[in-house]
Amino acid sequence: MCKAWPDFFPNIIWRLGDGTSIRFWEDSWLDGFPQLSTHVPHNLLGNEISKSVADYVTKEDTWNWDNLHNLLPANILDHLRSHVTPIRDPKKDSLAWLVSANGEFSVKSAYVCLDHNQIECNQAVFSTIWRWKGPERIKLRFWKTAHNSLLTNIARERRGLALENLCPRCHQEPETGLHALRDCVVVKNVWSHLANGGIPPNFINSNLGTWIVSNLTRRNENWRLIFAVTIDELWKARNALIFDQHHVNPCGLVVSIKRRCLEINRAYKECSTFSSKILGDPYGSSLIRWQPPPLGSIKLNCDRAVHGVGRKAGCGGIIKDYLGGFITGFPCKLGQCSILQAELWTIFHGLRIIKDKGFKEDIIVESDSSLAIKFLNEDCNASHSCAPLINSIVELADMEQDLNCSHIYQEANQVVDAMTNLSFDIQDKFQIFNNFLHGIVFSLLTDTAAVSFYRNF
Ligand SMILES: [Zn+2]
Repeated sequence: MCKAWPDFFPNIIWRLGDGTSIRFWEDSWLDGFPQLSTHVPHNLLGNEISKSVADYVTKEDTWNWDNLHNLLPANILDHLRSHVTPIRDPKKDSLAWLVSANGEFSVKSAYVCLDHNQIECNQAVFSTIWRWKGPERIKLRFWKTAHNSLLTNIARERRGLALENLCPRCHQEPETGLHALRDCVVVKNVWSHLANGGIPPNFINSNLGTWIVSNLTRRNENWRLIFAVTIDELWKARNALIFDQHHVNPCGLVVSIKRRCLEINRAYKECSTFSSKILGDPYGSSLIRWQPPPLGSIKLNCDRAVHGVGRKAGCGGIIKDYLGGFITGFPCKLGQCSILQAELWTIFHGLRIIKDKGFKEDIIVESDSSLAIKFLNEDCNASHSCAPLINSIVELADMEQDLNCSHIYQEANQVVDAMTNLSFDIQDKFQIFNNFLHGIVFSLLTDTAAVSFYRNF
């Protein structure tokens, strides 16, 4: 309640009874002027500030204009003229809730009010992120961060994916998004190096949204890029620590952040030179995006990953409709196998689910493994280690509907990438999600909204 108080407070107003309980200058009681003391051109003297509303009413039940003329500006005096004075009969002043039409407080209306504030705040953050000029992949990371969609250890523990919620870097505090990206002692060390030794106090005192907006709108263009790249690199290094037990020390991280900033700067300069020479699409065919399947079809997107010392493989697939809507998704543990086998396993599992669920639409399979697609379209040598798997897929694919397999660039396959990473976290070998997960919602939105990505970013 204390945390939400700043959102609640402006929606509470006093309604006049006898005016004795309401502080004329400090309480909110006059519509449109929440605190009259802030409208006084000079400081209020002596005990004036503690006077009640009833103290400014004459014996004739009118406002004490002689007194008020000396204290209030003309516009508020005008407003006060249309306001009734407190009533003589003993009737208590009461509080009203501005959000509801009848002034009565309800939990439902409070949620609406909080939500509204949250949306306004989010809009400012998201429009700042949207305007920031930089790689879409980093933008996406910002969206997830701002939306509290990062799969931190707090979120993992809540879902039963981790035994504890502590930060994997310092093991001292629960890992929130802000802790992972700013407040952890190890991370502060990185920021301190990047800020040449000193982090300004306002850097660590703000909430997540304000922190993102204030840094992405700094005048220093270089800092805006450093800030964005650092967020991305910190999260990647944190994932490498959890999933690959790969530890990157702060100095190493600073070096890779600076190197990546240089690369991005160089790429953008080359891109602007290129676009100034060639009219039309400045990025040519290098812009890549996911495209929904045609009406009457569904699309299976597949991906795989191999992590860790034991080279354990995992895969993931997502099936979407012609509007880009999520139908079903699955992460799956595969144990040890080659990347090509992992990719083919994903396609196998995806087709099996489609068959089990009885979908009748035509099927488009997209994978970023050109070899897997080549094998499926052209068959492979019977002696190849993947031949049995290819045969199983072909057998599964012998369904009534059309099946089309095509290659997709990794940049347009991000939502499946997120699903695949889940395969390292799930308890069982295989899991099917029939509702999309919070953790992949933004990747899914980028597909539906046809967000384009630069090739190789
Ligand atoms: Zn920490």
